[in-house]
Amino acid sequence: MTRPLVVGNWKMNLDYVEAVHLTQQIGVILKNKPLEHVELVVVPPFVDLRSVTSVVESERIAVGVGAQHASRHEAGAHTGEVSVSMLQRLNVAWVLVGHSERRAMYAMTDVVVAQTLRTVLGQGLNGVLCVGEELSIREAGRQDDFVTAQLHDALEGLDETSRPLVTIAYEPIWAIGSGLTATTEQVREMTEHIRTVASSLSLGQVRVLYGGSVNAENAASLMTEGRVDGFLVGGASLKAESFLTISQAANDCYDGKR
Ligand code: PEP
Repeated sequence: MTRPLVVGNWKMNLDYVEAVHLTQQIGVILKNKPLEHVELVVVPPFVDLRSVTSVVESERIAVGVGAQHASRHEAGAHTGEVSVSMLQRLNVAWVLVGHSERRAMYAMTDVVVAQTLRTVLGQGLNGVLCVGEELSIREAGRQDDFVTAQLHDALEGLDETSRPLVTIAYEPIWAIGSGLTATTEQVREMTEHIRTVASSLSLGQVRVLYGGSVNAENAASLMTEGRVDGFLVGGASLKAESFLTISQAANDCYDGKR
């Protein structure tokens, strides 16, 4: 079993003062109860990144820092965008690519997702590629084909240096922020499917996360029965206690399975 990864997506929540506060709370809990096996990443809004990376570094908190998006362009006339090299300069090591909210609300097409992923990986940052189907697609039983197409569009032809930097997050859109979690069986079937497709694209060792209304109560069963390598957590990552309870569940499952 691969070392679990738990990523907290703060979305458009928390100004920089609140973000620093949450980061410090995470730091305090981790110091009292370190997570031996889990890799943790927090993903604040862009304007919080400088403050959060400073606190993480100065207080030696064992979390990585990620961005919720990045421009596919390297620099220049792209008003409102943030480049990967700007993120890198802030010691941001992770970027979410193709979150369903960006795909649906900000016209992020599969082509743009693929270009963004290449820009992120090309500069040596870790990319968390988000995939997942809408409810109508699941109801029609077409979720496997849909996710296969998303994976092919994003991952086909990645070079050898880029591949180890990829993580895939399966996030069924109907489960995001809705309180509706996919069943452990649905998660297991899809993560197995994703691993098969990823392997056919030469990404045999890729970590596959689940995201969609993960909370302190369902994390352990999603981990063991859903057979995921960790989580992408939205709402429950906004409180240090729930984020770390989820992470602790991932840690304990890893401990029990090794
Ligand atoms: C997300 O935003 O990626 C997410 C999974 O959100 P939530 O946990 O709130 O469903």
